[in-house]
Amino acid sequence: MEDTVKTGSEVLMNTYGRIPVVFDRGEGVYLYDDKGNKYLDFVAGIAVNALGYNDEGLNNALSEQMKKLYHVSNLYYTKANVEAAKLLVDNSKLDRVFFCNSGAEATEAALKLSRLYAYKFKNKETKIIAMKNSFHGRTFGSITATGQLKYQKGLGPILPDVTHVDFMDYEALEKEARSGACGIILEPVQGEGGIRPATKEFLQKVRKLCDELDILLIFDEVQCGIGRTGYLFAYEYFDVVPDVVAMAKGLGGGFPIGAILVSEDKAKGFEPGNHASTFGGNALASTASKYVVNKILNEGILDNVKEQGEYLKSKLESLKEKYPFITDVRGVGLMLGMELEFPVADIINSALSKGLLLLNSGVNIIRFVPPLIVSKGDIDNCIEILDGILDEI
Ligand SMILES: *Cc1c(COP(=O)(O)O)cnc(C)c1O
Repeated sequence: MEDTVKTGSEVLMNTYGRIPVVFDRGEGVYLYDDKGNKYLDFVAGIAVNALGYNDEGLNNALSEQMKKLYHVSNLYYTKANVEAAKLLVDNSKLDRVFFCNSGAEATEAALKLSRLYAYKFKNKETKIIAMKNSFHGRTFGSITATGQLKYQKGLGPILPDVTHVDFMDYEALEKEARSGACGIILEPVQGEGGIRPATKEFLQKVRKLCDELDILLIFDEVQCGIGRTGYLFAYEYFDVVPDVVAMAKGLGGGFPIGAILVSEDKAKGFEPGNHASTFGGNALASTASKYVVNKILNEGILDNVKEQGEYLKSKLESLKEKYPFITDVRGVGLMLGMELEFPVADIINSALSKGLLLLNSGVNIIRFVPPLIVSKGDIDNCIEILDGILDEI
């Protein structure tokens, strides 16, 4: 309804530059607006709706839990919460979970843990090393770790003793680490920074360095985790185990939940009183996470991500052959980027008008992060629409 857009523009804070579309419902990989228009969704709530929309099992799990209990304080246990944590622990090489509600809270918890670990068990080092071009969230700590000045403008003074090195510049990183640091945070595949995967060699070297210096290696898998690379955790794709995995986006399949997953040794940094979240991992959110992770692990979703990721990438590469203004195609699994010589905003608008939802990453890059259940036919539809738009340029 026009009213929703009009009223929304009056009562919501002006933080997003929203597109004037009102979504009403979703089914599988499709969204429907309030006028009944159908959209093929390659945005998935920004890599959130891992199982697409209206997943019957997720709906049932949530409504069953809803009839029993939404929330109790984290001063007590719930079965749903413990089972959600156990599932992450049992399917990773890490040992303990702290639940929160978002990606920023997850990275924030990881940054606090780095400092507390050094404060308690080392020489009270405080320096956190992050990567240029990274994105870690919008709280003061996470925005400080974020290596893009545009997000920090006007917010200073931001968190002291956070430094940035070029992504994948091992020498610069080593220099900063050896002069005293408590943690290194990086995205194994940079998301907002343009869909840029790290190399395995780089991550292995950083792992060795962190072992030697006993500092926390934090992988921010908020966007690239939970199945998106074709593995439950992105660290498995790179075969490098960090001390902390921060996750959120896909974890609840659209229900808000975030978490850090931490090694036994580094988890010692938190004791009662050091960190908390009122809502973190409440019974409903935990139920969502448990369902999503179980389904990703047990119902062929990871294989689908690998298969459709390869297929989509090959299709994007064919477009690159056809159109010389496409300069690069990159990414892992169903987290892909296509870089153009010019801004992609018009292409994304044009796709919207043709019933395809696409997202940018930076100015010149189109990002593809569809639900993990996407099929070959869906990809063909997406490519057909995109090809038609590129052809008119
Ligand atoms: C989206 C994102 C965040 C922030 O998550 P929020 O839930 O918006 O706080 C942090 N890190 C990465 C890599 C992200 O993509």
